[in-house]
Amino acid sequence: NIADPILEVSELHVAYGKVEALHGAGLQVGAGQIVTVIGPNGAGKSTMLNAIAGALPNNGSLRGTVRLRGQDIGSVAIEARVARGMCLVPETRELFASMSVEDNLLLGSYRRYQARERGYADQMPLVYDLFPRLRERRRQPAGTLSGGERQMLALGRALMAKPQLLLLDEPSLGLAPLIVREIFHIIVRLKQTGVAILLVEQNARAALQAADYAYVLETGDVVLEGPAAQLANDPKVIDTYLGLV
Ligand code: ATP
Repeated sequence: NIADPILEVSELHVAYGKVEALHGAGLQVGAGQIVTVIGPNGAGKSTMLNAIAGALPNNGSLRGTVRLRGQDIGSVAIEARVARGMCLVPETRELFASMSVEDNLLLGSYRRYQARERGYADQMPLVYDLFPRLRERRRQPAGTLSGGERQMLALGRALMAKPQLLLLDEPSLGLAPLIVREIFHIIVRLKQTGVAILLVEQNARAALQAADYAYVLETGDVVLEGPAAQLANDPKVIDTYLGLV
């Protein structure tokens, strides 16, 4: 449905041992778009994101195709996917607690440093511009940050890799409503810098507000998709995902 998608996923089957968690799900992300996957606990949202990023756990096996800018990356290692412009921010954030905020950010540019890229840390001003709070706390150990600041740091670290596509797993998880609003504002600003974003969320209301296009995943299948504004007005979506907040 998109003329020139940056990401195309089709017929994705992922099994953990004998149990299949995704039954042929697919999606597309257009360049510079925010696309969201919403759905209940256990629907397979994280599985989908990890499969796309090349970060499935050892007991996970995959069938299907994942194309980044038209190229099949199904057998490409996770580091090489990062080199090709895709970067995952996992639900667990994976920060280094005893290291400073700034050193955590620098780790995000480590691949570029290793590749002897000139200006490997050139995203730092943008990150500090998006997250002034991180600049203020740049010498503080990451482990002393609040939940919202940790999510900002995880996002900032991913940006240091200068990705064209960000994969965000539940960025609002465990955050207070005000902080969730702030994080979603930043996600929309990130899109304005030209990054495409695939966003997995249980907070359907916030996700549909920020996104251009949305998929509803239930027990391993895409059951509904459409422009986010349209899904936000769909009676079934309202009933199941937007009714109670
Ligand atoms: P949540 O929002 O709760 O994280 P989700 O939609 O992201 O849910 P997944 O975490 O992708 O869902 O899980 C999909 C299914 O796969 C669940 O039934 C889960 O128990 C199972 N599963 C996930 N990871 C593993 C694993 N490493 N080994 C075995 N089963 C797994």
